[in-house]
Amino acid sequence: MHRILMVASEAAPFIKTGGLADVLGSFPAALVKRGEEVGVVLPRYRNAQIAGDHRILSDLQLNVGPRRFPVGIDQTVHNGVRYFFVDCPPLYDRAGLYNERGYDYIDNDIRFALLSQAALAVTRYVFPANILHAHDWQAGLLAPYLKVNLANDPAFFGVKCVITIHNLGYQGNFLNLLSELGLDPSLYHMDGMEFNRHVSFLKGGIVWSDAVTAVSPTYAKEIQTPEYGFGFDGLMRSRAYKLTGILNGVDYNEWSPENDPYISSRYSRPDFLGKLACKKALLKEFGLAEVSQRPLIGIVSRFADQKGFGLLGPIAGELAGQNLAFAVLGSGEARDEAMFRSMAAAWPDRVGLRLGYDEALAHRIVAGGDMLLMPSRYEPCGLTQMYALRYGTVPIVRATGGLEDTVDQETGFKFQPYTPEALMGAIQEALGAWQDRAGWVIRMRRGMAKDYSWDVAAEEYQRVYRSL
Ligand code: ADP
Repeated sequence: MHRILMVASEAAPFIKTGGLADVLGSFPAALVKRGEEVGVVLPRYRNAQIAGDHRILSDLQLNVGPRRFPVGIDQTVHNGVRYFFVDCPPLYDRAGLYNERGYDYIDNDIRFALLSQAALAVTRYVFPANILHAHDWQAGLLAPYLKVNLANDPAFFGVKCVITIHNLGYQGNFLNLLSELGLDPSLYHMDGMEFNRHVSFLKGGIVWSDAVTAVSPTYAKEIQTPEYGFGFDGLMRSRAYKLTGILNGVDYNEWSPENDPYISSRYSRPDFLGKLACKKALLKEFGLAEVSQRPLIGIVSRFADQKGFGLLGPIAGELAGQNLAFAVLGSGEARDEAMFRSMAAAWPDRVGLRLGYDEALAHRIVAGGDMLLMPSRYEPCGLTQMYALRYGTVPIVRATGGLEDTVDQETGFKFQPYTPEALMGAIQEALGAWQDRAGWVIRMRRGMAKDYSWDVAAEEYQRVYRSL
C-alpha cells in the first residue's frame, strides 16, 4: 500500500477547464479502490464548487522565495479521496484559473510555486505521503523543492516523486530568478531548471522526479522526437529510462449511454433505436434538416491549434458537396470559431454550431452523432474519442498519441499525414463505410465493447509506484 499525494491545478467535479480535471476526478478514486490511500492538493479558486469541506490547517505562513503568504487548507472527501484545497486569496481568489480575457496572470509562477509549497505542508502536517505525484507544469516545482530544498529534512526521507505529462505543449516557462521561487540559483543550467533562457517548471519536474509518465504509450514515444517535443525531445530521450506511457481511463459512471442523464433516450449495446432517437433530438436541437440517410459528424473540443481544425478550412467546400451534417461544440481560437461560423452560415441546415462550453450538450453530441471527428495535430491521450466509442459513435481521428492507441481499423477511421487531403480521405472512407449498415453496426459494437476504464490504468500506475 502506498500513501500518494497528488498535486494538480484542476479536478472534476470541483473545477474544470479540460481533460486534466477529468483525470484528477476519477483516477485517484480508482487507486483507492485498489487499496491505496490518496489525497489531492488543488488551489481554492473563486469559482471552485466545493461541498462538505472543513478547515484542516489554518494560519500557515508559506514562503515562495522572499514572499510570504497566509494559507489555510480545507479538506473534503470525495469517492474515498481526500481533496485538499489551498486557500490563499491573494493568489487564487480571481475570476479565472490561469488567465483573464486571454491574458495569463503575470504571477502564475508564484501562484503555482505556492501550490507545491502548500502540498509539502500538507505532507508534513496532515497527510504523510510516501509518493508525491505531480501533474503538468503547475506542479513542476514539487520535485525540485523535495529533492533539493528538503533533501536533508527527516520528515521527507524516502519520499519519491512522480510527474505525469498531460500535454508537453504547456511547459510553464518564465522569465524569473530562481531565488524568487525559493530555489538555489545554481540550479539554473541546461541540465537543471533552465530552458531557452527561461526557468521551466515542467523541466524541473522532469529532471528531479524519480519517474515520469506520459498519458499514452504513443505520446511517450512522440515526445522524444523533434516534431512533438516542443524543444524537450532531447531531454525526454535522455530521461527515457524513467519514462512510461500510461493511457488515461474513462469514468464510465459519467459516460455510458445506458445511464446518461443528459441524453434524451438511453440505450445499451443491443438497442440502437435509442441512439437513433438521440440523433433525431440532436438534429432538432441544432435546427438541422432531418434526413435519415445522412450521417452526422460530431465535434466537441477546445479550439486550439493542437486540435487540428485548421485542416477543415481548405476542404470545407469539398465537404459541402458530400452527404453529411455537422454538430459542433467548442470554443477557443478566433480563427477556428470564424471558420465554423462561416460553415454554419453557408449550410444552415447541415452545420450546427454552439460556441461555448456545455457539459450536457457534449454528452448529447457524443450520443447523437454517427461519427466523431478529432483531427488533432497532436493528442497526448484524448478522452472524447473513448467516450464516442462507448456510445457507438465511430471516431475519425488523426493517428497520433492516444488517438493512435485507442482507435483501430476495426472501430474507427484514421489518417496519418497532417494534411487536409489525408483528412478528406478518412472522412470519405467513413462515409463510404456508413453505406454498409450491417458492417457499420459491427463497427459500432466493437467500439462499444472496448474497455478503457480507470482500473486498468490505475494498475499500471501502481506498477510505477512499486518500482520506486
Ligand atoms: P483536452 O484536455 O486537450 O481539452 P481531452 O479530450 O483530453 O482534451 O478532454 C477534453 C474534455 O473536455 C472532455 O471531457 C470533453 O468532453 C470536454 N470538452 C471539451 N470542449 C468542451 C465544450 N466546448 N463543452 C463541453 N465539454 C467540452
